[in-house]
Amino acid sequence: MIELSYLVAAVLFILGLKQMGSPRTARRGNTLAATGMLVATVTVLINLTEPSWTVIVGGLLTGTAIGAALALRVQMTEMPELVAAFNGSGGVSSMLVALVALLQTNAAWDTETGITVMLAIVIGAVTFTGSFVAFGKLKGIISGSPLSLPGGKVLNAAIATAIVVLIVIGVTGDATWPYWAAVALASVLGVLGVLPIGGADMPVVISLLNSLSGVAASTAGFVIGNDALIIGGALVGAAGMILTLQMGAAMNRTLANVLFSGFGAVSGAGFGDGEEKPVNRATADDVAIALAYAQRVLIVPGYGLAVAQAQHVTKKLASILEEMEIDVGYAIHPVAGRMPGHMNVLLAEADVPYDQLYDLDQSNPQFQQTDVVLVVGANDVVNPSARDDSTSPIYGMPILEVDRARTVVVVKRSLSPGFAGIDNPLFYMDSTMMLFADGKAAMEDILKSLEDL
Ligand code: NDP
Repeated sequence: MIELSYLVAAVLFILGLKQMGSPRTARRGNTLAATGMLVATVTVLINLTEPSWTVIVGGLLTGTAIGAALALRVQMTEMPELVAAFNGSGGVSSMLVALVALLQTNAAWDTETGITVMLAIVIGAVTFTGSFVAFGKLKGIISGSPLSLPGGKVLNAAIATAIVVLIVIGVTGDATWPYWAAVALASVLGVLGVLPIGGADMPVVISLLNSLSGVAASTAGFVIGNDALIIGGALVGAAGMILTLQMGAAMNRTLANVLFSGFGAVSGAGFGDGEEKPVNRATADDVAIALAYAQRVLIVPGYGLAVAQAQHVTKKLASILEEMEIDVGYAIHPVAGRMPGHMNVLLAEADVPYDQLYDLDQSNPQFQQTDVVLVVGANDVVNPSARDDSTSPIYGMPILEVDRARTVVVVKRSLSPGFAGIDNPLFYMDSTMMLFADGKAAMEDILKSLEDL
């Protein structure tokens, strides 16, 4: 019955993960996976030989209270921080499971168990400290700029080598000290590995750490012989790694470039030629008129839309345009925003119909036939330099080619750069109208002007 329950849990995890692949079924997927976790947890609880109910119930209540309080309070823009905190907690849990096994047996085990314990400890510790540094960077507690010690890469390589040596000593001997030394060094490596990465790359790092937390859980599953933990951890490890690689591909950057290049070090200082270039400034009335005369409008949401929480008013504006028999769609770039699927989630929250959402490949052939493209708080993902300027730091990153549309309206507060810290030639094109305002306020003003027309 135990094995069967774990099998049911594993099947629920897999079905849940599959359904999370589409916004339409994601909610159900989440419920399925959570049910799988409940089945696995209950199975563990009813099969405990000497349960200490005070500790178990106390732990469950504390964990539930912290999780619920965090999940209820978190804003959509803070989701990466929440995931970082969850990953860190997952990493430390796996490490603690392995350390309890160490304390109970004093390392009197075979080589295979020694290896799994060491892996759970090392990967768990790196994930734990790395995730909390990532959390601190996203929260602004630690500086978002890449921070590295002189010779940092050499130092990290030396620590990694020392950990490998400790693993070999630990699994070939029967002393416990190499395990404790590995905990210490891996914890330091987590901190030193994440500090040199720019704050804006944290979502990719968090996705990688998410994958590592899964691998740590899986190895901890081998240590205590729990199939659900092995399978669940392996799924998290694989899904996290696929996501990490996809995010890198959507930014046209390798994982090594994200981890070791210190990208974002010059963020905000990208175009310091001091030259003031003219732009076409527009008012909300100008934009409303352009929209009213359009037959086809595509909306491009970006990070600024999320910051301004402009998704609901944007949806309202789209509905009014549809009532005026204007064809409306949304062009979504895979890395628009600060976490994967950020825009889809925000628009789903505002009840935007899924069939109006177009991905990069579906959107690009449409721009040429589009009368007005309304870019709300997006910048890098519509920067034509990525296509045209081989010296640009984002050259090669696939973009939404909004510059091919008849008119482009860009809503943002200033000419400040986006995450990549570089200027955007789109802003200075004859066909571009710049509406400088907060995303939500601007959309409300355009809506009002449209209603007054
Ligand atoms: P960008 O960071 O390029 O630009 C966002 C723009 O929003 C800024 O230029 C800013 O301009 C504007 N903005 C900020 N606040 C507001 C506001 N309240 N109202 C209106 N505008 C506002 O965002 P994109 O979405 O275009 O691109 C995402 C970037 O993030 C890409 O470079 C991507 O590679 C990177 N990234 C994405 C990840 C993901 O998974 N989604 C992961 C890691 C990185 P101003 O200050 O003038 O208002």
